[in-house]
Amino acid sequence: ISMSPEDASELLSYKTNIMILTGAGLSAASSIPTFRGNDGLWTKKYKHCETPEELATLKFFKAHPEVKWQCIHDFYELCKNAEPNAGHKAIVQFQEYCKLNGKQCHLVTQNIDDLHARLIRESEILKPTVTSEGEPGFGFTDSVYEIHGNLSYSRCSQECSKALKPVQVPDKELSLEDQIPKCEECKSIMRPHVLWFDECYTQELHKVQTVKNIINSKVDALIIVGTALATTMANRLVNECLSRKILTINMNLEPCCDFGPVVEILGKSEETLPKLFQPFIPVVTKC
Ligand code: NAD
Ligand code: ZN
Repeated sequence: ISMSPEDASELLSYKTNIMILTGAGLSAASSIPTFRGNDGLWTKKYKHCETPEELATLKFFKAHPEVKWQCIHDFYELCKNAEPNAGHKAIVQFQEYCKLNGKQCHLVTQNIDDLHARLIRESEILKPTVTSEGEPGFGFTDSVYEIHGNLSYSRCSQECSKALKPVQVPDKELSLEDQIPKCEECKSIMRPHVLWFDECYTQELHKVQTVKNIINSKVDALIIVGTALATTMANRLVNECLSRKILTINMNLEPCCDFGPVVEILGKSEETLPKLFQPFIPVVTKC
């Protein structure tokens, strides 16, 4: 059923353990193209490669690491220059509200653009769970589960360790081939910390078992934002919630009714999310 954000807020106010699952549509208003959009990045042609699906594979990285790193750097630059939009901000404010009011809000994202984590690092209320470089757990925060990784980090392609390192911005004056990052320990090529189409999820890098456990034990509402649910894990998480018959709210530009009884909030998430969370966000009065 279709519902206004205001009416859905009312339903949400009775829930105490909420999961939010986000996808590329949330970041569209931050000028990061969605996977299925016509514009920009995914239609850009790279050497040795016909389709974006082919490009986003471990197989392609192994065959042409310099082309893959070129593509990573292009997308990384786009993400680094992007700003979180009103949708990201409403989510982090709702997370803060939950933390201060004894409720749970688990944020799970398929996005690799770092925009959720950036706001979390800036939040006085949420940031204590973020560790700095060199400390164990660097790059991970339990205020957001980035199940497809985060493009701001790289790791050893030979897995000599699972430690994450910040991605370096390449020097435009030098050839990219000379700037493929190498592992400090074993000198193998570094790879971006993202999950490609021909790879499997792991607990250590993608926290998937943690996310499944959260759903199975206690979640009482799921909010899905800006995703076509075309990836296996997102699909599985949603089906799990539907089979448990918990409140499921889908926020997207267009209706996608083929996955069961959900509340649908149609519209741009940068507009609907601030409305959905408005009752939970404190009004700041300036004096
Ligand atoms: P998708 O591109 O497959 O689907 C995007 C969905 O968002 C569509 O259903 C579309 O209708 C909806 N949408 C578009 N603009 C919207 C808006 N303003 N408000 C609400 N909804 C809107 O994205 P996906 O399902 O996340 O899957 C894409 C895969 O590619 C993921 O695995 C992700 O890791 C990767 N990806 C990430 C980014 C990013 O990090 N920002 C961007 C593109 C792709
Ligand atoms: Zn190594």
